Amino acid sequence: MKFSKLYAPTTKDAPKDATLPSHQFLVRGGFISQVGSGLYNFLPMGKIVFDKIKAVVKEEMDKTGAQEIQMGVVTPAELWKQSGRYSVFGKELCRLKDRKDNEFVLGPTHEEVVVDIVRNRINSYKQLPLHLYQITTKFRDEARPRFGLLRGREFTMKDGYSFHEDEACMKKEFALMEETYTKIFTRLGLDFRAVDADSGAIGGSGSKEFMVLAQNGEDDIVVCSSCHYAANIEAAKRAPKMSSIEAPQADLAKFKTPDMKTIDDVCNFLHVDSFYSIKAVVKKAVYIDKEEIVVFFVRGCDELQEVKALNACGAIDLVDAELEEIEKVGLKAGFIGPLGLECVKFYIDFELKEAKNLVCGANEVDYHWVGVSMFNFKEERYADLCEVKAGDSCACCGKELYITKGIEVGHIFQLGQKYAKAMGATFLDKNGKAQPFYMGCYGVGVSRLVAVMIEASHDEQGCIWNKQTAPYLLDIIISNTKDDAQKAYAESIYATLKSEKYEILLDDRAERFGFKIKDYELLGFPYALIVGKELEEGFVEIVERKTLEKIVVKKEEALTKLRELLA
Ligand code: ATP
Ligand code: MG
Repeated sequence: MKFSKLYAPTTKDAPKDATLPSHQFLVRGGFISQVGSGLYNFLPMGKIVFDKIKAVVKEEMDKTGAQEIQMGVVTPAELWKQSGRYSVFGKELCRLKDRKDNEFVLGPTHEEVVVDIVRNRINSYKQLPLHLYQITTKFRDEARPRFGLLRGREFTMKDGYSFHEDEACMKKEFALMEETYTKIFTRLGLDFRAVDADSGAIGGSGSKEFMVLAQNGEDDIVVCSSCHYAANIEAAKRAPKMSSIEAPQADLAKFKTPDMKTIDDVCNFLHVDSFYSIKAVVKKAVYIDKEEIVVFFVRGCDELQEVKALNACGAIDLVDAELEEIEKVGLKAGFIGPLGLECVKFYIDFELKEAKNLVCGANEVDYHWVGVSMFNFKEERYADLCEVKAGDSCACCGKELYITKGIEVGHIFQLGQKYAKAMGATFLDKNGKAQPFYMGCYGVGVSRLVAVMIEASHDEQGCIWNKQTAPYLLDIIISNTKDDAQKAYAESIYATLKSEKYEILLDDRAERFGFKIKDYELLGFPYALIVGKELEEGFVEIVERKTLEKIVVKKEEALTKLRELLA
């Protein structure tokens, strides 16, 4: 490609809202162009990168025997009503009506549609397993579209859906997908981890996220310093916390704790380590048809993990409760404890089960209990609620956990029979009995990956593409386009390498050299060949983008050297 013909409108300035390097460089480099909040178009070079990523995903998916299909973006709302998600999927679900008032949604994910595709068509276990996938547009009306392609409203996902006769077969496919995703992200040259995850609105049990380790990631991931354990903070487990400080021995008694409303106040006053105290976190749980105040109890030294809390109470959302609302249901803010608590629904963190010698609110203004034992609560009250912190111990090996940032690029789920049951999709098993399908679903953020490649590899000047995803492998820069010798030499190298099927850009624009080299650094192709004044003495320069190091080579040897580098 000749740069003079390429549509790559590069600019010096990034949009004001572009805070991340990938967003800045993709716009400045003319890879993408924004048309609205969270809506982007791919320009020629962005499209090349996008297609390369897509090709890797497709190749690896096809190798597993999964079959590519294409489902529409517009989906009848009726299917979403059948699965029950029409009412529970929040505002992210874009709902619309046609001229006859029929309701539709713009597909944010396609479980419902794919179930409809196989329903009443796959009738026997003999036709299973089956895996269908697509690489298409999704729409999610994200609350805060940001970071360019990382969190758009319209984006491209590879989404695959598998159907099985039993759980064992579903688990086998899940393992195959874990292996396949590992191959995909390895081929893309990314540093990633497969982590245990929360299943979110998709539902089901058992899910893993693929996280690319990157400073600017939105997700906190917990990683063990010693073994393979890694999890999203929303699902992370730890070995139960211990305290080396001795427990305060006391019989159950009520203590006056005037105006002591925080854990610190109470623990200082009673000379107790916060490990031996119970903290109450009050939230308003939002359900489809109601809202109610719910209390979550964790150790005083722990924090509530909100996604775990949400899962425990089965609400759609948890929001902060106003003091007025808290008092209205009869809670005494600052003095709330689980003993004798009857006015609201409450949950207790697992790790407090059978704990002794604790301090907690007495549900009476200015009073706390000491010497509390946690024996008399129903099993349903207990849930995993606390947030894992750096320095906690690994549940697998006991060694220290640390926290790092990641960007989610893939997510695989074991859905079980959830969708098939809800939508009445069954097959006849070996005994001739109708059974709902077991399903798995598997997503890759294809357009997000375009940005992830840059988050994972850039410097202050711009992108640093690797060979797997670079729009062009080499930029041949003619330093002075008025110099016929430079032009002739550059064009002959260009023609030769192009005929050998290398992806080459020839910067033949009548611009200053400084301008062109700045563009090269911004666009970030793996190598540049600089054809300048030194050609007269028989030399040219090869630049490696990653290090910006230059080597001088004899003009007759440049081709051999380049073939070596580009191979
Ligand atoms: P996130 O937690 O980042 O919002 P998610 O868990 O809602 O993502 P999934 O439903 O698991 O997303 O979708 C599969 C993949 O699609 C994700 O792993 C991610 O790479 C990609 N993806 C999801 N939402 C977006 C978005 N708004 N913009 C770009 N890619 C996205
Ligand atoms: Mg996800």
